[in-house]
Amino acid sequence: MPDSGQWVVVGLDNGGTTNNATVLDSAGRFLPDRLAESPSRVLDGPDEAIDALADALRQVLELTGTEPALVRAVGLDTPGPVSADGVISSRGATNFSRPDWRGFDVRGALEARLGIPVVYNNDANAAALYAHHVHFGPEKAARRSSVSVIVGTGLGGGVIESGRVVRGTAGMAGELGHVWIPMAGLLAADQPVPECNCGLAADAESVASLTAIEKNLLPYWLTRFPDHELGRIGPASAAAKLVRGYGEAGDPLALAIFRQQAMAVGRLFSIAANFTDPDVYFLGGGVVEAAPHFRSWFLDLVREHTVLREEQARAASIVLVPDLDMAGARGSAIAARESQRRSAP
Ligand SMILES: [Zn+2]
Repeated sequence: MPDSGQWVVVGLDNGGTTNNATVLDSAGRFLPDRLAESPSRVLDGPDEAIDALADALRQVLELTGTEPALVRAVGLDTPGPVSADGVISSRGATNFSRPDWRGFDVRGALEARLGIPVVYNNDANAAALYAHHVHFGPEKAARRSSVSVIVGTGLGGGVIESGRVVRGTAGMAGELGHVWIPMAGLLAADQPVPECNCGLAADAESVASLTAIEKNLLPYWLTRFPDHELGRIGPASAAAKLVRGYGEAGDPLALAIFRQQAMAVGRLFSIAANFTDPDVYFLGGGVVEAAPHFRSWFLDLVREHTVLREEQARAASIVLVPDLDMAGARGSAIAARESQRRSAP
């Protein structure tokens, strides 16, 4: 339990099936050292999902023996696309496909339900904020900048400047998955230009994501390896998920796919170098959980394909995001704590 006179914030990470929750005290200490998980009930609709978030808050306070009156703010993150102040896209979103989610103000609804200020970030920005704070520590975080790329189902991004998330006028800053990258020298001569779910062709996510493996990379590379076992596994989404395991075992088809993904991430970092010239480039996602030899191979390839000026290369580093499964809840809590420190020091 926090000392008397202190206050706490709660971080809530909302996913398709699960909410993760954590408590951060005013001294910057996370109270539970493990994840507090509960069902997110997103598929049941907004009312049920807001109830589930309120339950997640109550449970983590019980788990840590924290008085509800000590909670000054709540940090919330969800997958996008969601506006900077937490309104689900009017076209819906992957996790929020029911019509009643479209245009729903998830941040405002949770704030009204709890009667406590709620600070919103999308999940990639929350993870980027967490990686930034863990890497630099509380003293340096506010003076440093970073760019995060998280390769999952899609490609999530986050840009942090002087310790704060860059949001942009419409809340769409840091959507690095939909940055166009040059394909010359990345694609094979007869390989079709990859397309992204966002409607663009040849953006970063069209190569560096699980969706890209399923829709673009695996179908092409199976034409080059027509007898490969993955060609006999259906549906394509199931085969795509197996590619990482083949890569860890040194399979040539899988390595060709991951080589293209590493080049795409390197090219994206090269673009970032000319935009914000960050101190650190973070790489997260499935590759962080991969076998160490494969992870190092992939990270080295990303470094090889990131073009930095000599001065930048001396000053900056390219590293992995730490413990990603806690990153959403913890990054959300950090955002909530920062909001309190700024408004009431
Ligand atoms: Zn895209």
